Amino acid sequence: MMNIPCNCAKTKRAPRERKRVWNQAKGRDLSGYGGEPGYPGEIVNETTTANYAMIDWSNAKEAVLSPLHNLLAPPGLPCLTCGKTISDKVTGYPEICSSCYASIPWITSVRCDICGRPVGCPDCSRAGKEDRRFVLNRSVVSYNGMMREWLAQYKFRGNEALGSVLARMTGAAAKRLAKELGERTGTGRFYFDAVTYVPVSTDRMMERGFNQARNLALEAANVLGAPLMELLIRSKHTEKQSFKSRWQRLRDLNGVFLPATDVEGLLYAVLSRRTSRGRGKFPLSIFASDKNEFGNAYSYAPIKLLLIDDVYTTGSTVDTCAAILHETCALLGRPAEIYSLTWARS
Ligand SMILES: [Zn+2]
Ligand SMILES: [Zn+2]
Repeated sequence: MMNIPCNCAKTKRAPRERKRVWNQAKGRDLSGYGGEPGYPGEIVNETTTANYAMIDWSNAKEAVLSPLHNLLAPPGLPCLTCGKTISDKVTGYPEICSSCYASIPWITSVRCDICGRPVGCPDCSRAGKEDRRFVLNRSVVSYNGMMREWLAQYKFRGNEALGSVLARMTGAAAKRLAKELGERTGTGRFYFDAVTYVPVSTDRMMERGFNQARNLALEAANVLGAPLMELLIRSKHTEKQSFKSRWQRLRDLNGVFLPATDVEGLLYAVLSRRTSRGRGKFPLSIFASDKNEFGNAYSYAPIKLLLIDDVYTTGSTVDTCAAILHETCALLGRPAEIYSLTWARS
């Protein structure tokens, strides 16, 4: 067998020899011996060290690593609403930047117990308002220009990611509302039998593909652990609410909302669910005397429903829906308590 010398033998020169060859190839002055560290006349390392010493390492590192780091690091996500890169994440709302979050006009203290306004409220004390059919309304934010834009982005431009933010805001507010009502019952507990929402017309549904109020209600129902039920339908397409006067709106709403066709079955389901949980014995009404909001004694525990909508303006939509829900529950021989929660208070 022929003994073939390994090629790698060439490369396996002694380290000292290899360095000398390398320096020769670079044309360096090797006047002394070997050009190795520790030997007199060694200038290679002096030159090398000197060259290296001339480099500003702090800047070099920055210059080399920064573009590399930018290339490899996952990019900071842009804020959903202002588009700026998010540097500080907000707990629960990672899609929006901290400055946008800080600009949200949260309603933290309620001045009007009925409609949930954060400011003095002439509307609810107006004559004829006593016969409203809902117990109270709470809203998450004041409907300012920024919130109007957020809602438009979701509702009219289909920004679903922003819709998810609004839904989470509503869910958190539903939890706060249940807590507030629990404190009023004196038991610390309050249950909604079901969560429902203000419906949109079929035309609007075809146009948008979703009902924003339903999506907000879905999150509220999830948070509360209550069933989400479509108890109402909208019988005809109405003009956009915001372009109408208060009276025109009130007139138009009559006959717009109807009970859903299977509402009876849904409400029976609510009642059987309640019995199975033993809640029938405990009305847990916020009305401590066990009388309803109109002073009549309850013969049965009222069906407590939470109605969700995107914006509360005059309260006429909530009131009309509440009236229909009252009538529907009355058909089953049950009183109702309708609570309202909207994302914004106009
Ligand atoms: Zn932002
Ligand atoms: Zn009010």
